[in-house]
Amino acid sequence: PAEPELEALQHADVARLLPRPAAESDKYRRGVVGVAAGSGRYPGAAVLAVSGALRGGAGAVRYVGPAAEAVIARFPETLVSDRGPAKAGRVQAWVTGPGAGDDAATVAEVLAAEVPVLLDADGLRLADRDAVRGRGAPTLMTPHAGEAAALLGVAREEVEGARLAAVRELAAVYRATVLLKGSTTLVADAAGGAVRVNATGTPWLATAGSGDVLSGLGGSLLAAGLSALDAGSVAAYLHGLAGRFAAQGAPAGAHDVAECVPEAWRDVR
Ligand code: AMP
Ligand code: MG
Repeated sequence: PAEPELEALQHADVARLLPRPAAESDKYRRGVVGVAAGSGRYPGAAVLAVSGALRGGAGAVRYVGPAAEAVIARFPETLVSDRGPAKAGRVQAWVTGPGAGDDAATVAEVLAAEVPVLLDADGLRLADRDAVRGRGAPTLMTPHAGEAAALLGVAREEVEGARLAAVRELAAVYRATVLLKGSTTLVADAAGGAVRVNATGTPWLATAGSGDVLSGLGGSLLAAGLSALDAGSVAAYLHGLAGRFAAQGAPAGAHDVAECVPEAWRDVR
């Protein structure tokens, strides 16, 4: 029989994949996630990405960028560095792009790291395609339809009308794992194979900053050692559930979604 084109994770799959600290774990074994995001204009994107990273199970979150004061004010447990990604210290996965503005140098420095990278938002636009293609470590790209269209050089409607083809094409062109956001989320690997679909979300997630929380969650799961396909699909699953718990039929802000990630986590385990 032909392989199915789409597969969906269930609660039990996610429960098995979620990283849990072993009795002898320390924060480094749990994973350190680096967040290189935010700008003077968009400090909140950094705060939201860090919030997702902290709730994604990493042992520590390291922040590099111009929004350190805002990040620390909200999350005092964040380690901050003013030395740039390459010299920030031990990091097992990076998140870059949310609110990054025009800081192409930081995105390039992150892409040069030999650890998994989650590339989102402005980072998608700023990243050099050959730099992504040439990476030795996994890359997880997380565009919404508009960002995916810009990367493919087509109209947004074209992506929306053929989401499965678009996510597969992007994964092949960038030799990366690609998570295409929307009312459902699709995650495709460069190697082909079944595409993961996630439908745990709610339209209440269509709110500013929602994707920034997802990027932190995904980065945290990468730092814990999940493959890019698993990290992306588990992040989308938890984020969708957290959105449901946050909203419950009423508007919720992205920071509310981040605060409901522990509830989502407890629901699947
Ligand atoms: P962004 O566009 O980067 O802010 O990300 C928005 C997040 O909200 C993504 O995780 C989307 O999958 C999710 N989202 C947006 N609209 C919907 C919707 N109508 N139904 C479910 N999830 C949505
Ligand atoms: Mg976004």
